[in-house]
Amino acid sequence: MTNQTDDPARRSDAEWRRILTDEQYRILREAGTEPAGTSELLHVDEDGLFRCAGCGAELFHSEQKYTSGTGWPSFWDPIGDDAVETQRDAGLLGFRTEVLCARCGGHLGHVFDDGPEPTGKRYCINGDALAFDRD
Ligand SMILES: [Zn+2]
Repeated sequence: MTNQTDDPARRSDAEWRRILTDEQYRILREAGTEPAGTSELLHVDEDGLFRCAGCGAELFHSEQKYTSGTGWPSFWDPIGDDAVETQRDAGLLGFRTEVLCARCGGHLGHVFDDGPEPTGKRYCINGDALAFDRD
């Protein structure tokens, strides 16, 4: 690919449209949500890394994945403190905390306070925002 901006945080909308599938674009760039129960990543139980589908940044490890029963891939912690960013999101369902890729700013999902120990967090992430790399 030519003319692709090296820094994913500075990619233009046209670049994102070229790089991402329609569904990835809708989620990552327009804060969309995939239908519950549709992600193949729900059923991944092998060891590996979950990367941002937009920029390839390492976001979560399978050690932090758990079965939440919600229909979206769920994690109790990101791979590192600076892997994701969060911000308050006022939407139709009230206030939630949005989870974004720290590198490219792509929308990943939301984080809630009803997860398991040790963090008590539930990172509820769209599978289409992730790419899985087996260890
Ligand atoms: Zn990213």
